[in-house]
Amino acid sequence: MKSLTLTLVLLLYVSFQIRAQEFTKEVKAFISIDTTMVAITHVKLIDGTGDSIKNNLTVIIHDGKIEHTGHSNTVLIPDGALIIDGTGKTIIPGLVMLHEHLFYTKFFENWFSVGQSTFTFPRLYLAGGVTTMRTAGSIQPQSDLNVKQWITDGKMIGPKMDVTSPFIEREGLPIAELGFIKKTDEVSEIVDFWSKRGVTSFKLYNNITQEDMKVCIAEAHKRGFKVTGHLCSVTYEEASNLGIDNLEHGFRVSTDFLERKEENICDPFAARKSFNEEPIDSPKIKHLIEVLIKNGTTITTTPNVFEPYTNRELIPGGGERAVSPEVLKDVKNIYDRMVYKDSVQTASYHKNMTWLKRFYDLGGKLVAGTDPTGAGRTVAGYANQHTIELLVEAGFPLVDVIKICTHNGAKYLNKAHEIGTIESGKIADLILVDGDLEKNIKTIRNMEIVFKDGIGYNSKKLFESVNGQVGRN
Ligand SMILES: [Zn+2]
Repeated sequence: MKSLTLTLVLLLYVSFQIRAQEFTKEVKAFISIDTTMVAITHVKLIDGTGDSIKNNLTVIIHDGKIEHTGHSNTVLIPDGALIIDGTGKTIIPGLVMLHEHLFYTKFFENWFSVGQSTFTFPRLYLAGGVTTMRTAGSIQPQSDLNVKQWITDGKMIGPKMDVTSPFIEREGLPIAELGFIKKTDEVSEIVDFWSKRGVTSFKLYNNITQEDMKVCIAEAHKRGFKVTGHLCSVTYEEASNLGIDNLEHGFRVSTDFLERKEENICDPFAARKSFNEEPIDSPKIKHLIEVLIKNGTTITTTPNVFEPYTNRELIPGGGERAVSPEVLKDVKNIYDRMVYKDSVQTASYHKNMTWLKRFYDLGGKLVAGTDPTGAGRTVAGYANQHTIELLVEAGFPLVDVIKICTHNGAKYLNKAHEIGTIESGKIADLILVDGDLEKNIKTIRNMEIVFKDGIGYNSKKLFESVNGQVGRN
């Protein structure tokens, strides 16, 4: 009897082990390392904590966890470990990015529209080093939830996901993918309905009222979930004082600079004008930064979607090859009309980055994301890598850039105890970059292996597998 129990326990244990390692053959095709013990030696390490960069390190991965990091001269490599020579390479934590969507711009005449990217985007995100993401607003929440489940089950490739609700919005913008509420009661219904189905964060949009926001925050917080907003009708200061957790798009969409702002009303043109005209050292921005820091409100920067046109890539980050030729034609048409004509846009781009740097330097909570929408120049994966380049370009020190894109995201998601940095005991979500990131930030595009839960995925192969398909699938 005793031995039978033991056998049962063993069987259960074995089946659990197999279950944790189970992948379909389609997924396996992209896995380059699936060994319980890996040692990456002589590597440069940027660990995500904001600490200084370390050279000649050895990182030991064991059973999906980071077991140890230490100087290569002193670390003992365990027997049977797969050894990867990291000479000339850099390790950073897997990216934790918070404004990712499973949709992409869809072009039709003058309409702004987006279409679901169920298959290409999850794969591209992982290829681009994203091991955890928040979807920050959904147009097909049921698809996003299925994708999350299939990734967990080993049937699909992609990051771990914090799935966000559909956009909570009132009528105003002519975007067919949005649902429009008519009364505040509907907010509680939405939060209740989607949190029961696996959604774990909530997104408010341009035309909601302060009352809608109040209810959303209360209902989400009651369930342990957070609320973010791409706002317009409610100012950043009002939202922060109401207790919103997060504001999207830096200061770029804030309506706090309007002279006479009508309560609960969005006037995007006047708001943009007031943003553009606000002096860089104005008392208003100083005050706003103080309020946001005092309230602990997190800001998400999304520089790629605001990237200027002049002297910039068509698809920043090098993602042209990913986009289907027909769609790329539309993207290029817009690009050609804009290039050399975007001086106002360039100025406001830099103003936003300057203010964000100031916010961060004063102790503000800053996280990053991409927002693959706009005029089609933001493509999952490529844009995530490029965000790192853009933050360095904006003057953030490299260790802070990595921290913003990893640890800060993990902290926001209340997951910093297990992901976001490279430290003993954390989950082995990390990226092996082929190159010296300190010498040349562009090497961020040369990701060799992206480890998620200790499993190593071949970044190049993932990128190549969807070439020419973005905008279609
Ligand atoms: Zn967005």
